[in-house]
Amino acid sequence: MTIANLNIVPFVSVDNMMKLVLEIGVDRFLGELSAYIEEDFRRWELFDKTPRVASHSHDGVIELMPTSDGQLYGFKYVNGHPKNMREGLQTVTAFGVLADVGSGYPMLLTEMTILTALRTAATSAVAAKYLAPKGSDTMAIIGNGAQSEFQALAFKKLLGIDKLRLYDIDIEASRKCARNLDGLGFDIRICTSGQEAVEGAQIITTVTADKQNATILTDNMVGTGVHINAVGGDCPGKTELHRDILLRSEIVVEYPPQTRIEGEIQQLEPEHPVTELWRIIAGKAEGRASERQVTLFDSVGFAIEDFSALRYVRDQLRHTKRYEELDLLADPDEPRDLFGMLLRQAAKEKAQAAIA
Ligand code: NAD
Repeated sequence: MTIANLNIVPFVSVDNMMKLVLEIGVDRFLGELSAYIEEDFRRWELFDKTPRVASHSHDGVIELMPTSDGQLYGFKYVNGHPKNMREGLQTVTAFGVLADVGSGYPMLLTEMTILTALRTAATSAVAAKYLAPKGSDTMAIIGNGAQSEFQALAFKKLLGIDKLRLYDIDIEASRKCARNLDGLGFDIRICTSGQEAVEGAQIITTVTADKQNATILTDNMVGTGVHINAVGGDCPGKTELHRDILLRSEIVVEYPPQTRIEGEIQQLEPEHPVTELWRIIAGKAEGRASERQVTLFDSVGFAIEDFSALRYVRDQLRHTKRYEELDLLADPDEPRDLFGMLLRQAAKEKAQAAIA
């Protein structure tokens, strides 16, 4: 793709995102996106970082997630409304922008609902690569909604997980998940309780949606040596794990100032030690240290992961046509003559009306 005209912004609709993902293949997409995320986490210190700007309401949250590496600037708009699902709407929807820091001009506008599911799963799997017990092949997934298949596929791609134990309070969600993953190389068991789901699993993913301090996992459900990938607790007052699990886990987070507000660790003292994922990826901190250690990735989703996803999509557009050209930016012949542009349009319309 050469977008010679800087005033034309490539726009990736949901339709084009689906075509792009299918063209690349979900597997390869997850693998390549994971590599972009790791690359950006390795240069973590370069980025502008701020906890996301959250606007909380009774039923949910709307958030803006900005970051920049000095060359590119990105942000995502995302909501989280657990009650939406009961009304036939998505719990999480998103769109995002990538811009050129030099000119300030947007370079890409894209849907990010599908992209968020892919980047969340890719980030979880990247963390698990460093934290899960060696030779893991079985994962419990508790909460079998929109994110669940993406989680399963990312763990298969990066860790070779091929046995899934599914549990959801709504068995229809588990059936949907099992049906969607049929034929993709998994041995799947639908379970009737969280307790049953975690049996024999080396990795436990919790990805439920409920606007409360829930207890999806109690302390007795978590055996030694397990890796927990806690995805659903991502807002103040919205957690999934019993506090006792946190007290005996090695906790890994994305960006502590944000996770202390939003993650499972909101249940702990502010000074409770945590390790930042980027430090492990960059080789500055240890991942899993022993076979018996309980590791916990307290995922909330951080702006740099979205930045990586935006960057990845931008790079794919160079060799695909999966975008539309959006007339988003005013382009007067002479930059200061913005009002003149309006006048010329008025004259054009008048001339056209006279001909008609
Ligand atoms: P969803 O509404 O599509 O699915 C959630 C599922 O959880 C539903 O099937 C529901 O029946 C189930 N559930 C609710 N309570 C449960 C319980 N007590 N036990 C078992 N199952 C239960 O939502 P989604 O889009 O899949 O998102 C799931 C969660 O992940 C949300 O809380 C969302 O905010 C969070 N999320 C986090 C990140 C991140 O980066 N950490 C990114 C995206 C979404």
